[in-house]
Amino acid sequence: MQNLTIVMYHYVRPLAGSRYPELKALELDNFRGQLAYIDKHHTVIDMEQLIAALGPEAVPLPDNPLLLTFDDGYMDHIDHVLPLLSSRGWQGSFFPPACSVIDRRVLDVNKLHFVLASVADPDILVRYVFDAMDEARELHGLEPNEAMFARIAHDSRYDDPGTTFVKRALQRELPEAFRKSLVDALFSRHVSSDEQDFAAELYMGESELTRLLDAGMFIGSHGCQHYWLNSLERQAQIEEIDDSLAFLERLGVSRKEWVMCYPYGGYDESLLGILRSRGCALGLTTEVKVANLDQCDPLTLPRLDTNDLPMSASTPRRQPHITV
Ligand SMILES: [Zn+2]
Repeated sequence: MQNLTIVMYHYVRPLAGSRYPELKALELDNFRGQLAYIDKHHTVIDMEQLIAALGPEAVPLPDNPLLLTFDDGYMDHIDHVLPLLSSRGWQGSFFPPACSVIDRRVLDVNKLHFVLASVADPDILVRYVFDAMDEARELHGLEPNEAMFARIAHDSRYDDPGTTFVKRALQRELPEAFRKSLVDALFSRHVSSDEQDFAAELYMGESELTRLLDAGMFIGSHGCQHYWLNSLERQAQIEEIDDSLAFLERLGVSRKEWVMCYPYGGYDESLLGILRSRGCALGLTTEVKVANLDQCDPLTLPRLDTNDLPMSASTPRRQPHITV
């Protein structure tokens, strides 16, 4: 059985002493430690090797292969990740949503991360959402506050119930225009009133992405607007994919062997059909597992989160999760 560990990263930065020390990010020193652990127990592979392994030629991979993936196109990736990977001669695969690069807008999900990092007590945000729901209940036909809280504020791997409620209410549950207006208000109140400026600090632009490519890194699609793609109608799915492919092409990424990374891990059969029709080689989900390459569907590969792996080379090797 050929196993493959794919690790998923988001923010990677020196948190201590930074402007947002409470941001749910991977501390840079822990990233260094994790790379040392990986160096000891795995062989880091390139995306091109994985495509060849899962293609018709089935080119074998080295023992204990591991692929490094970085979602959302943060400046963290060029400032902190690229130098560390380059010094080891390793490739990382990067998945920026096209709109944050092109339009210099801050994604709602990122606005929320920085709101949560800026407000120490999540109950303040829960109360803010409750008050807004009270005002808009009739207009949008909203359920009672406590009922929604009980329904959505549980089963999170990392967050307390209040934070889970705020995230889910403002990312998915409330009607789109309403929740966007709440996120915008919270962001300008607690984080920044200059979204363009903030976006320029947060996300890589085209020149940074070109530098990644020049350094031998891989760049794939993470959609355009960072939607839950399984929540869209087919035509909107097609537009998201085609817009992101046009963006990749402009960067100079080959369309022959392109890779999809589903925002929030969201996909459905309709989307997989669209990807197949456009020659997508691989798809990365957020299902938390080590992949078994003998049995997996190349378009729905599972990944581990960085928190599933040790952060130090001195930690004994452990098998984090069962394989699919
Ligand atoms: Zn993402």
